[in-house]
Formats: sequence, structure tokens, C-alpha cells
Amino acid sequence: MTFLNARFKALVPYTPGEQPQISGLIKLNTNESPFPPAPGVEKAVAAASTRLNLYPDPTEGKLKAKLAEELDVQENELFLGNGSDEILAFLFQGFTPQGILFPDLTYGFYPVFSGLYHVPRRIIPLRWDFSIALEDYDAGRETVLIANPNAPTGLVVKLPEIRRFLTAHPDRLLIIDEAYIDFGAQSAVPLIKEFSNLLVVGTFSKSRQLAGARLGYAAGSSSLIADLNRLKFSFNPYNINGMTQAAALAALADRRYFENCRNTVIETRATFTKALKRLGFEVLPSAANFVFAVYPGRSGKLLAEALRTKKIIVRRFDLPRIENYLRITIGTPEQMQLVINALTDILMRKEPA
Ligand code: PMP
Repeated sequence: MTFLNARFKALVPYTPGEQPQISGLIKLNTNESPFPPAPGVEKAVAAASTRLNLYPDPTEGKLKAKLAEELDVQENELFLGNGSDEILAFLFQGFTPQGILFPDLTYGFYPVFSGLYHVPRRIIPLRWDFSIALEDYDAGRETVLIANPNAPTGLVVKLPEIRRFLTAHPDRLLIIDEAYIDFGAQSAVPLIKEFSNLLVVGTFSKSRQLAGARLGYAAGSSSLIADLNRLKFSFNPYNINGMTQAAALAALADRRYFENCRNTVIETRATFTKALKRLGFEVLPSAANFVFAVYPGRSGKLLAEALRTKKIIVRRFDLPRIENYLRITIGTPEQMQLVINALTDILMRKEPA
């Protein structure tokens, strides 16, 4: 006996990266920032907590004004979500009249949303070198969704290619998931002024130290944003809680902290990549806050397990072409040195990995 509607019986939910609730682990499996929120965040959240008896501002007025300034867009060109995951859910639900196209190796939630909302999908394989070529998406009438930089590869699609696609297909929506944009790729947000068929999605989870607060945003033409609001206000008008609004405002107020953290991650990524290559790993050129690496001739599963015995958690995917790759989040310089030490140990000792 089940009370679940029949149409959900075949639904396969997303498996989030493990969130172990114990300390002492080096947690490099879900691409969070290794740095705490900006110093002003704690006080702002404490102040907001004294107003928890009231509902939050459903229009997120103050936060939107500040973020609009940051992204150089108008407030009515911005939408906020409870994590960018919620925005992606709205997009699958409401902006896929002809179905959707996305790559075979990309963010694992896309196929789940397509299952949840019964959106027909066509999966476009990445090229041999794991790159996304937007011309592979030219045929068809579907909405197109790409992560840029892509996850788990860290590879980038350049703006001229995006611009070409938008110009060639004015009647198709292109969604760009920019979760990792701040770590080295060029944002498509400025293009929303020119193209009403572009929606750019971003998050405060990776480069702004607020994964736990759950805040994502979308930038697009005011008419796309009005349609997103139609869905939100038909579902949960208070999707961004008051403490999150206050936390994000305080984070945005401290540009220098954001830049310092971001720059440290970028520098650490370069040092870590060099060290991995010295050990014999092949590493894709990443523009994100993680690297995707493989050790030729070694099982990724065993390597990940060996790291885990040394209290280091990384992400691995049981998928064709990438089963031996490790996706390793860039932590602090000290954490990444510990990863290199551990890998050196594992590889030298000829442990089973
Ligand atoms: N898009 C991509 C490509 C991601 O990797 C993630 C993080 N798992 C998200 C979106 C969702 O991030 P959040 O919901 O924390 O904003």
C-alpha cells in the first residue's frame, strides 16, 4: 500500500554529497567554501533572529537592491531562490515547453528535476575532451541548460559561443548555471540586456560562503523574471527566510572578504593542480573551486576509499567515462597540502588503491 501518486513511483531522487556531522574530517566533496562567512554575517543574522516572529519580506527588497548593484542589473531582472536548486526546479517545471537538452556529464540534479516534472530530455554527450560545444545543441526546439563552468569537469564555454547560440535561436531559452562562475570564467549576466532568451542562474553557496543559508539567484529579462515570480508566488512566497536575507546582505557588503577568499581558492587551485600533476595525475584545466583528476591505471573508487581512511572525503561518480576520476573541492592551502601528503603516501606505499 502506498499513498504516493502513481506518477512519482519511478522517481529517482538526487543523492547529495555526504554531509557528515562530525568534525575532524577534511571535507572536499561538495564544493563549499572552506572559509567562514564574512565577519559581518554573524551579527546580521543575530539581529534578524529577533524578528523571527514575523514573516520575511517576500520581495526581498533590500537584498535585491544590493545584489542588483553588484551584478549591474535592474531589480526587476533578478529573482531569488532557496538555493539555486529551487530556481532550477522552477525552470524545469515552467520553462521547458518543448522539453530540455543538457550534457551527459553535468550536475546530477538536472535528470532528477526532469523526472520530477516529467520534462522530456535529450542528453547531449560531452566531446571527447569533456568540453561542451553549443553547436551540438543547435538541432531541436528544446530549452538548453548548461553549467558554466561545468560540473564535475570545471571546463568553460566561452561567451562568443553563448552569444552565437542566443542569436541563432531567439525562440529557444538558454539557461546558464553559473554556480562556479566567480572562480575564473566570464559571466553571461551582462548579455541579459541584449537577449530575452537568456537566463543566468547563480548561487551564494560556493564563492560567497553561504551554502548553509541557501540562496540562489537568477538574472534575466524582466518578463522572464515576472514569469518566475508567478511560479514562486503560487508555491512559497516566503522562500528566502529573514536570516538568509540578512546574511546575504552582510556578505555583499564586504567585497574585500569575498575577493580575498576567491583569490585564495584560485591560487590554491593552481598550486594543488601542479602538485597533483607532479604525482602523476591527469588534471582537467578547472575554472571552478574544484579539480577533476584521474591517476592513469588506478581505480578511482580505491583511491577515494584510501583517502577516506585518512579522513579526507572527495566526490566520485559511478558513471561511464569518469568512474576513475576524483572531484576534489579546493579547501584551504593547508588542507590541500594534507591531501597531497596523503596521496603521496597512498601512491608510494603501493597500497591497493
Ligand atoms: N548548480 C551546480 C552546477 C551545482 O554544482 C550546485 C551545487 N551542488 C548547484 C547548482 C546548487 O547549488 P545551491 O542550491 O546550493 O545554490
